[in-house]
Amino acid sequence: MSTHTSLQPDFEGDVVIAGGGLAGLTLALALHKAGLSVGVADGLPIDTQLEEIFDGRSSALAYTSFRMLDAVGAGVHLRPHTQRIEDILVVDGRPEDGVKAGGPGPFCLHFDRREIHPKDDGEPLGYMAENRHTRMALAKASEEAKLSVFAPDRALHMNAHASHADLHLASGKVLRAQVIIACDGKYSTLRDQAGIRTTGWSYGQSGLVCAVQHDQPHQGVAYEYFMPGGPFAILPLPGNRSSLVWTERTKAAEALQTMDIEPFHEALRARFGDFLGEVSLDSPRWCYPLGLKLAERFIDERLVLVGDAARAIHPIAGQGFNLGVRDGAALADILVEAKRTGLDLGSQPVLSRYERWRKTDSLALVAGTDLFTRLYSNDHSLIRLGRGLGMQMVDQIPLARRFFARTAGGETGDLPTLLRGEPLSV
Ligand SMILES: Cc1cc2nc3c(=O)[nH]c(=O)nc-3n(C[C@H](O)[C@H](O)[C@H](O)COP(=O)(O)OP(=O)(O)OC[C@H]3O[C@@H](n4cnc5c(N)ncnc54)[C@H](O)[C@@H]3O)c2cc1C
Repeated sequence: MSTHTSLQPDFEGDVVIAGGGLAGLTLALALHKAGLSVGVADGLPIDTQLEEIFDGRSSALAYTSFRMLDAVGAGVHLRPHTQRIEDILVVDGRPEDGVKAGGPGPFCLHFDRREIHPKDDGEPLGYMAENRHTRMALAKASEEAKLSVFAPDRALHMNAHASHADLHLASGKVLRAQVIIACDGKYSTLRDQAGIRTTGWSYGQSGLVCAVQHDQPHQGVAYEYFMPGGPFAILPLPGNRSSLVWTERTKAAEALQTMDIEPFHEALRARFGDFLGEVSLDSPRWCYPLGLKLAERFIDERLVLVGDAARAIHPIAGQGFNLGVRDGAALADILVEAKRTGLDLGSQPVLSRYERWRKTDSLALVAGTDLFTRLYSNDHSLIRLGRGLGMQMVDQIPLARRFFARTAGGETGDLPTLLRGEPLSV
């Protein structure tokens, strides 16, 4: 730790966040609204991140995550662009056994939001939103809150001192705070520079992502079909549109991305079937290689990892961003309490509390997602039978169904204030 502090910073506050993506801006707004002074730096212009071609993904947002987006002022802008998820149907099956999207398979599991939120106007199981709309809503909320955003300006490195840390940006600017939060994604520069090692592997799969238009309404049902090449998810968007995550071995997924439109439509119809009537492509096609990356530590001297910088997982359960939201909500509770009681926000006891809280939850989810991905991308007949019977068992037991529905909604363990839908302030 250096004691050199002679630089005149361009920003000085409680917290500096490197990375103004989905997790970074959500956390920045939460801390700012709670009364902390926050600066955010992102390497890309915010406008670029709002363009339709920037990120074709849509995300399933857990109902607890949406409570946080509401609390930070982004929910109001996002809600008109969301689709409520009322039911989730999970089917284990192979096309050669006659399993088609929209139809049943040998083993099915059905989650109904009324089982956990029985009121007619109760919360759904989650919300679907295109990432570009979520980014737009966060950008609008940041503008309204007059958040200090430095973009485009890449974080190059940080220096930890006795009472604060400095984040050095590509422009030469220096942002100073008691703690630096790395929300700079799966390939986090700050994590690597701190010498925090990661464990991980590729699944050899990629997710082809696109939006489709169909004739019939989807009724707010999200479908996930476990096929030998990987999961095929049909996720409802507003109107007669759905987002697809079509997972295949990487070569096959890349071929689907680059093939001409007519053969693609044929492949799409063969996989999708006609349960929602005629279906056609309604967006560009993107391809995301899928793997796992887990940081061995979530903290260092005056540094905290949040979101994909801490761990990036397979999208099989649609939990990556939701985990980033949970990181942010937990960290907001800890930093707000530290500020209220006059503690140094970057001190080791404060940061260790975050690591203890988030690591247990993360490890359980990382392990569960990894096991799930391996089990459900396997075509061995005994494994298929075993997992199918397990699925059937959960489907028969209301308590188990409710447990999994609440877990997907993020309502497990020690729930931070913002995920309970309660206000947070210093
Ligand atoms: C196919 C697919 C489907 C998915 N579906 C879902 C889903 O349904 N639900 C869900 O919850 N999650 C889902 N996810 C996961 C989710 O997209 C990620 O977990 C989420 O985007 C991570 O957000 P983040 O802000 O941590 O990182 P990122 O989105 O990677 O943001 C990082 C930010 O940091 C900036 N940055 C990087 N380096 C620097 C630097 N040196 N200095 C300054 N800024 C920097 C970048 O410009 C960017 O803005 C899915 C993922 C995939 C691949």
